[in-house]
Amino acid sequence: MILRWIAVGIPLLGYSIEVKMQALSIVQAGEPVLRQKARELSVEEILSPEIQDLIEEMKMTMREAPGVGLAAPQIGRSVQLIVIEDMNHSHLTQEQLEERKRFPVPFHVVINPRLAIESEAHVEFFEGCLSVPALLGIVPRAEAVRVECLNERAEPVVIQAQGWYARILQHEVDHLQGTLFIDRAYLSALTTQENYMKLWNKKSIKKIKEGLGLPGA
Ligand code: ZN
Repeated sequence: MILRWIAVGIPLLGYSIEVKMQALSIVQAGEPVLRQKARELSVEEILSPEIQDLIEEMKMTMREAPGVGLAAPQIGRSVQLIVIEDMNHSHLTQEQLEERKRFPVPFHVVINPRLAIESEAHVEFFEGCLSVPALLGIVPRAEAVRVECLNERAEPVVIQAQGWYARILQHEVDHLQGTLFIDRAYLSALTTQENYMKLWNKKSIKKIKEGLGLPGA
């Protein structure tokens, strides 16, 4: 288990005390918790110090990984809690951002989500998962989704998402149902991260599908 600690200073009565927060270890494919249906959280649970601390720890864990989303089963907790943040796009060209319809998504919390597909259109692109290291797969995802959920204050929220944000939501909500991206990926086109960077990083999805011999390219 990798332990990483950061110190957070909290002003209290003029003093500053240190609270140790721990980045959590991310469970990997093969752990049963990744295949279980996660249970809903009650309003009381969401507002409890335990879950509020867990949200902070998941935020830190996602940022350290780094990833753009993290679902509670990935840190071994079978509850319907997700954190999402997709702000750092410096590794992508403008063309790649446009092709993937990837726009900045600030940090937010998704609890007890109900996801509805809003678009018949499916888009295909590589995605990976912090629980399935070193592999990327081409996954068809709905272009637009609507998610009804609670936020970290247990308030009802409706999210309308398109493009890459819709992909993130579908990937993370899948985690709460015990589904991993490899269940939806074209298995014949599974690619190591190393080969993705070497062979496909700058190519369009059409060129990638042609190159990997996928039908419909
Ligand atoms: Zn994942």
